[in-house]
Amino acid sequence: MRIVTSELEQIAVKPSQYPPGDLAEIAFAGRSNVGKSSLLNLLTGRKKLAHVSGNPGKTRTINFYRINDAFRIVDLPGYGYAKVSKSLSESWGEMMETYLEGRENLLTVVQLVDIRHAPSAQDAAMHEYLRHYGLSGIIAATKADKVSRNQLPKQMKMIRQTLKLSPEEQIYPVSALKKTGHGALLDAIGALLEE
Ligand code: GDP
Repeated sequence: MRIVTSELEQIAVKPSQYPPGDLAEIAFAGRSNVGKSSLLNLLTGRKKLAHVSGNPGKTRTINFYRINDAFRIVDLPGYGYAKVSKSLSESWGEMMETYLEGRENLLTVVQLVDIRHAPSAQDAAMHEYLRHYGLSGIIAATKADKVSRNQLPKQMKMIRQTLKLSPEEQIYPVSALKKTGHGALLDAIGALLEE
């Protein structure tokens, strides 16, 4: 799949601010600083669609991007700096929970993890949560340029084990720096959208 057009359609903190549920949505989640904004920019081929920053204290909103006038990419607020309770029940969690559990046109959540490190307890909790709601299946391992060709399969295996992935769940290594891996990730998303 190729992304031809992308535009920020809506910024929301509550359902009354969501765009209409007319288009399928693919959400992206990961801890702050994992490289989510950089990946969204790479996927859409736009340098500044999502705001890349070293500042973890960014405003926490749900950003809806309209893609090819056919579906939406939804940028969920990063976790890791705010306390995340097991039930995701803090205010950040409430906003996430409301979207993830209530959005009927949400197809799946692409979960981002940093390829260099074992997924954190929060990454694992998020994955369990997504699996519980039938929203898991695609993992993007970011900053793939930071590991050698030799290390890559080891890191992928470690991520698979730590998140207890099932064989059907796929990990896609991506690098926004080297601009690699986004084609395969987009194809996986395209396949889901066609189902
Ligand atoms: P976000 O907080 O998840 O949206 O992450 P950002 O996209 O803002 O990136 C956080 C930091 O990681 C920034 O300093 C980026 O330059 C860096 N970064 C993002 N993607 C990559 C990548 O593919 N490779 C490397 N080496 N650094 C990256």
